[in-house]
Amino acid sequence: MTLRRAAILREMGLAPLWRPRDAAPLPALQAPLETAPARPALAVSAPTPAPAPVSAPAPRPAMPRMEAPPLRPVAPAPEARPRPAAIPVASAPAPVAPVLAPSPERLAELAGLGWEALEAQILGCQACSLSQRRKQAVPGVGDRQADWLFVGEAPGAEEDARGEPFVGQAGKLLDAMLAAIDLRRGEDVYIANAVKCRPPNNRTPEAAELASCFPYLQRQVALIRPRLIVALGRPAAHALLNQELKISAARGRLFDYAGIPVIVTYHPAYLLRNQSDKAKAWEDLCFARRTMQGLKAEARTEGP
Ligand code: URA
Repeated sequence: MTLRRAAILREMGLAPLWRPRDAAPLPALQAPLETAPARPALAVSAPTPAPAPVSAPAPRPAMPRMEAPPLRPVAPAPEARPRPAAIPVASAPAPVAPVLAPSPERLAELAGLGWEALEAQILGCQACSLSQRRKQAVPGVGDRQADWLFVGEAPGAEEDARGEPFVGQAGKLLDAMLAAIDLRRGEDVYIANAVKCRPPNNRTPEAAELASCFPYLQRQVALIRPRLIVALGRPAAHALLNQELKISAARGRLFDYAGIPVIVTYHPAYLLRNQSDKAKAWEDLCFARRTMQGLKAEARTEGP
């Protein structure tokens, strides 16, 4: 471990717990992804049954898992860069009623937008009542061709004031988490939120708000075409996977959104309140890093 990484882990409250073992050689990409329920429904109700993966997940090991489960090779993505592509969703579990769907009209309206037009739409959005109390909407920040997409919950007070996601305390921890796996905000990383406007008193976004805002995230994903998405916390996972999950149950598994692998981990704000779970988040980051390495290796063997 480099001194820099050791310092980062110390900053995250993880040293000496988070000393990563050297990853084993990357396995071939073989394991199936777990798919989200078909859009457009976004489940509102809670509680929901545990999500049924497309194939049975391996039993969770008692010890922290440090090797990435292999991924199934997937078909190429639509545009230039090699990308993991769609896993069939036919056997995905049906969403649990009552459900709330993003409006098909809004999905269609955004479908052809480029970045500038999309961000203009987000900044002027009045689709839900969160728009009435925001200072500004917060579209997202970073490399628009990033391999990594991190999705948070919704802007807080500082983000609302500055117009950039994750610039408060949780953002500092997110930056440290990124640095721990040799990533930096804006360099091959895009950061967005599931909901683009600050909920009053930083409450958790409601399912209707997630549904209303989802078309923006959907368009961002389509424009970025990341190799891997990391959902930070339950609302982000709910929006992307269209099902309510417990993070503790979803960790260490690969889900799928629109053909892109999704890994779920704890939200940095949660980790600030629950320091003992940082070690689990570190495992998740290691899992994400190995998964990314596997995806890149797979893309290299597939060629252009
Ligand atoms: N929490 C989030 O989920 N997003 C932010 O942008 C800030 C805090």
